[in-house]
Amino acid sequence: MKRSIAAIVPHSFGSHDACADHEWCRFKLEKDYKRKSLPHCKDLADDFLKKDLEDLMGKYTTPAMCRKLAELQSTNSVENMNQLIARKAPKSMHFSGSESLDYRVSAAATQKNEGSSYICTVNETHKMTPGKVTAKRFQGIDRKRG
Ligand SMILES: [Zn+2]
Repeated sequence: MKRSIAAIVPHSFGSHDACADHEWCRFKLEKDYKRKSLPHCKDLADDFLKKDLEDLMGKYTTPAMCRKLAELQSTNSVENMNQLIARKAPKSMHFSGSESLDYRVSAAATQKNEGSSYICTVNETHKMTPGKVTAKRFQGIDRKRG
């Protein structure tokens, strides 16, 4: 896992030496492979960005963090969180161009931590009446979720 994480930044900047053992690098399979996820299908190039990304990703290559990440990979909790985020911010919709994504991911995290009835709390905070039907519905959902 540590080698995979350490290969991500060099891979994004066009150096695939560290990608040798990783299936996710398409460049070693297809010589003419074009990146579809980066602007103009080109590698990242900014040295300051590279340094920042290396510093950021370095936090995830420590033995303790790799152990944590390896344990999280197989938990239902992570899958559940991913589903909550996917429901509120489907990949097919482009929410990352605005603050909408932040709000949607925050709503998913709040729902995960506090249950669906968080919506009633938000409504009350903003002096809006949640409504009896809404409150009753979320109580039922949260009870099932238990
Ligand atoms: Zn690569």
